[in-house]
Amino acid sequence: MVTTHNLGFPRIGKHRELKFALEKYWSNAISQDELLQTASTLCKQYWQNQNKLDWVPVGDFSFYDQVLDMSFLLGNIPKRAENLSDNELDNYFRVARGRAFANESDCTCIQASEMTKWFDTNYHYIVPEFSQETNFSLQAQRLIEQIRQAQAQGVKAKPVIIGPVTYLWLGKSKDKINKLDLLDSLVKVYAQLFDELAKLNIEWIQVDEPILVTELEVDWQVAFREAYDILANSPIKLLLASYFGTLQDNLSLACGLPIDGLHIDAINAKDEVQLVIDSLSDNQVLSLGVVNGRNIWKTDLSATLLWLAPIHQQLQGRLWLAPSCSLLHVPVDLDSEQELDDDIKSWLGFAVQKLEELSILAQALNQGQVSVTKEIANNIAAINARKYSSLVHNDKVKERIVKVNDELGNRQSNYKNRAKLQNEKFNLPLYPTTTIGSFPQTLEVRQVRRDYRLGELSAEQYIQAIRSEIRHCVQAQEHLGLDVLVHGEPERNDMVEYFGQQLSGYAFSQFGWVQSYGSRCVKPPIIFGDISRPKPMTLDWITYAQSLTNKPMKGMITGPVTMLNWSFVRDDQPRKTTCLQLSLAIRDEVLDLEKSNINIIQIDEAALREGLPLRESQWQAYLDWAIKAYRISANGVSDETQIHTHMCYSEFNDIIGAIAQMDADVITIETSRSDMELLDIFDEFDYPNEIGPGVYDIHSPNIPSVDSMVKLMQKAAKHIPIKRLWVNPDCGLKTRHWDEVNLALTNMVLASQQLRRN
Ligand code: GLN
Ligand code: ZN
Repeated sequence: MVTTHNLGFPRIGKHRELKFALEKYWSNAISQDELLQTASTLCKQYWQNQNKLDWVPVGDFSFYDQVLDMSFLLGNIPKRAENLSDNELDNYFRVARGRAFANESDCTCIQASEMTKWFDTNYHYIVPEFSQETNFSLQAQRLIEQIRQAQAQGVKAKPVIIGPVTYLWLGKSKDKINKLDLLDSLVKVYAQLFDELAKLNIEWIQVDEPILVTELEVDWQVAFREAYDILANSPIKLLLASYFGTLQDNLSLACGLPIDGLHIDAINAKDEVQLVIDSLSDNQVLSLGVVNGRNIWKTDLSATLLWLAPIHQQLQGRLWLAPSCSLLHVPVDLDSEQELDDDIKSWLGFAVQKLEELSILAQALNQGQVSVTKEIANNIAAINARKYSSLVHNDKVKERIVKVNDELGNRQSNYKNRAKLQNEKFNLPLYPTTTIGSFPQTLEVRQVRRDYRLGELSAEQYIQAIRSEIRHCVQAQEHLGLDVLVHGEPERNDMVEYFGQQLSGYAFSQFGWVQSYGSRCVKPPIIFGDISRPKPMTLDWITYAQSLTNKPMKGMITGPVTMLNWSFVRDDQPRKTTCLQLSLAIRDEVLDLEKSNINIIQIDEAALREGLPLRESQWQAYLDWAIKAYRISANGVSDETQIHTHMCYSEFNDIIGAIAQMDADVITIETSRSDMELLDIFDEFDYPNEIGPGVYDIHSPNIPSVDSMVKLMQKAAKHIPIKRLWVNPDCGLKTRHWDEVNLALTNMVLASQQLRRN
């Protein structure tokens, strides 16, 4: 018999119940008891949804983040969070977000811990902190309570935790301590935990070690052996889980550990399965992640069964089936969707549907395919319908892709020649000022979009209202004395959604929320088909804005790589093909803008870095196609047209070569928080074009002084010739208020004037 299990379930709730309860609690609108009540109701549903599985994950439910839960379980709480109050949950929120309550007195507020991305997902975890003083101690009450609740409801609980080596790897040492020095004391606490769990009649525990899919230094490989040699004496069985990629060099390490079972991501590492089988011993279980936990497409059940049948023959009862990773990264339930096209909906599966697929696969293997004839037939029908659907395939787009050549990504001349022509054309002063695109999204602006969406405003009324906002924004910028203006993006709710909604090949769910961090969720759009642009997407707004001013108006577009990285993408063609399709659609927009005399165009690639593969050895392959796609979208313009690009992060030292290859005339980046230190790279790397290192940290309500911005730019001028420098904020201003923006930009313009005088 094959065994089914799950690695983790989305905890935010089908209708984001947890989000709303948390936010109410933080604003004192509900009591802690009510919050706990919501959580326990959610857990109940959540276990209900998984009741067909042989083993159900428990402990994956979290009030904020599973890594932070681990820190509390291990007693690894930052010193500054000790003794704040005797309410543990409130202290937990303080570590996560600085404070438990909106109106909390300052004496219990602390600096929130850092947050960073969980591997290559869009989920962010709270970074554990380590120091010489770090002392672990088992604090398992909350986990034990969850297990008890689950068991009381008849759930076959398999606790889920993050393994000791990954836990250390994820954290940050706050002093000079080598994190691995903490391994011994850490593993002792894990051993204690396993003893406690044995007392609860726990048979299996899932220990997540996703760093096994990254390139591991030798000392980290050794750490794995040391840790698991100790844990091998545990009274419960260990299922070690790796996911998000292939094991490669770590395959023999993982298979050689003294564990009772290994889970691998059979979506990404399908080619390694046979080798893993050969490397495991006869008493070890192999769990295969055969349902994609990172995407929303139906699994091809009959193809999967065909592939699994011989493996099942070989492994018999040692075969377990699961999603490839925790289902945290997909929305909860497709049944909630009422507005998706019926065909498209029939090709999809969210978390609940993915578990149904798992049950069908197991039943087919255990009781023969005849026992699930109907289910398999339905699945085949859906898979085939998608394969041949005219919604998916557009011959014109495919023909265009075939004709793509590298030439398309090249500008007519090199930067030097272009810069000369552009200088003559725009005649901008030294230290020209500009912004990154969006201006404050006031309640009124949001209301306008909402009313239009709900049909309460006619198209004509909507256009007038947005135009009036654009007018306001252009006047404000003229008044401030900025050199290159923007229209302010009032028509956009989100930089990907706005374009996706106008492109063919994109679909949008109503409830397809995925947790991003804490109570925050995103609803990634779905790319289901060949991408094309039926008509211009930004032209009317931008040309209108240009008609209001003699200063240059910067057209504003989201780039292909960012569109790709922030969407659920097709699994029936390589990512790079989808990206190329996006880039052609965006290229058309760029060329239309140029034709309408918009001669400065910014193509945002906020998420370029996020697409980097987990293994550095694969970075170049990604960068090759990603940069090519960007270049095709941007570089079809004439020499006189100035192309800007913007990136929302500052760690680009390791990909600076690729960024230079984009060959944008101007890049704007985030640097103000790092005090321009990030520009050090420009001493070694001769970045050839113009650059605007952000001088205004838009993530903070603080108003930067003239002096601070002058100083930042002077630092920048040490690395980059001044005739190639721009002055601008870090990112878009949409989350700020007008009064802040007016003050900050006034100072920014004054700073630039002062720099020019010098
Ligand atoms: N143009 C976008 C804005 O200004 C860029 C946003 C971003 O980089 N995240 O809002
Ligand atoms: Zn940005």
